[in-house]
Amino acid sequence: DAKQGGRNTYRVYQAEMNAETGRRLSLEQDLRRAVEREEFLLHYQPKVSLHDGRIIGAEALLRWQHPVRGLVPPGVFIPLAETSGLINVVGEWVLDEVCRQIAEWRGKAISPPCIALNLSASQFQRQNTVDLLTRVLAARGVSGSEIELELTEGALVSDDGDTVETLMMFKRMGLSLAIDDFGTGYSSLSYLSRFPIDTLKIDASFVRDLTSCSASTELVRSIIEMAHRLKLSVVAEGVETAEQLAILRQYDCDCAQGFYFARAVPADDFAALICRNQAYAL
Ligand code: C2E
Ligand code: MG
Ligand code: MG
Ligand code: MG
Repeated sequence: DAKQGGRNTYRVYQAEMNAETGRRLSLEQDLRRAVEREEFLLHYQPKVSLHDGRIIGAEALLRWQHPVRGLVPPGVFIPLAETSGLINVVGEWVLDEVCRQIAEWRGKAISPPCIALNLSASQFQRQNTVDLLTRVLAARGVSGSEIELELTEGALVSDDGDTVETLMMFKRMGLSLAIDDFGTGYSSLSYLSRFPIDTLKIDASFVRDLTSCSASTELVRSIIEMAHRLKLSVVAEGVETAEQLAILRQYDCDCAQGFYFARAVPADDFAALICRNQAYAL
């Protein structure tokens, strides 16, 4: 009967919940060991100038090669790392690995463009991020001007007064600062203008909808216009088509990142790309 069915449904639901909780717990345990087991690696995705098609930067994107599950996407393990507090260890690994890689390239006479890395909100809000950066850059012999930090709006909204001060210290170290996924949070450009930011990255969700006559198109146009008035350079994320590219160029967007040009690739492939020193056709 209906009552019985309801109970069964509940039991099935309960079993699924337990399985889901179990999966998450075991993934969290694996994540805890991933650093020491050297299961992480970084891929690099070019950022292309829309003025001349040249690679003017790259974003370091974290990959986790799980021994059993294979490649686990960051969309799955980064949130887990954040809720479990493991993001600090993971984030330190990313920073050190980017700097190690830059130093390695330099040793091979390869001069990489500015490399961006993602800093999650909890990492940013931690007290000693400035100390950590200072220490790692010095240890690897990398200068601040070789690194860009990508922060989300969420990292800046809980403004406790220290935020501007921390960002100013990053700037004094020579780092570039970018707002990632712009448009997905609730902050306005006028709110963001109080921070010493260099670059705005327009979220891929707006770029996806770019066609000759969509609401997104008007939105993107005005974001680029306002950003330029605030002396910010603009990167469009997730550019996949020639049509999107054409519209972005028409609106004077500075830079694009997306599968249309290149996916994130292993360090060696990225170095090869740099050494070829070719401009992408625009
Ligand atoms: P994000 O920082 O916004 O990075 C851009 C994401 O968009 C990357 O996904 C990239 O591979 C993807 N992407 C780039 N171009 C295209 C395109 O044309 N089409 C589509 N469909 N996707 C494109 P990925 O590598 O899976 O990373 C997802 C998110 O995970 C990142 O978003 C970032 O928030 C986070 N993440 C990645 N690496 C790190 C890290 O080292 N530290 C932290 N805290 N977060 C990271
Ligand atoms: Mg990013
Ligand atoms: Mg982004
Ligand atoms: Mg994103």
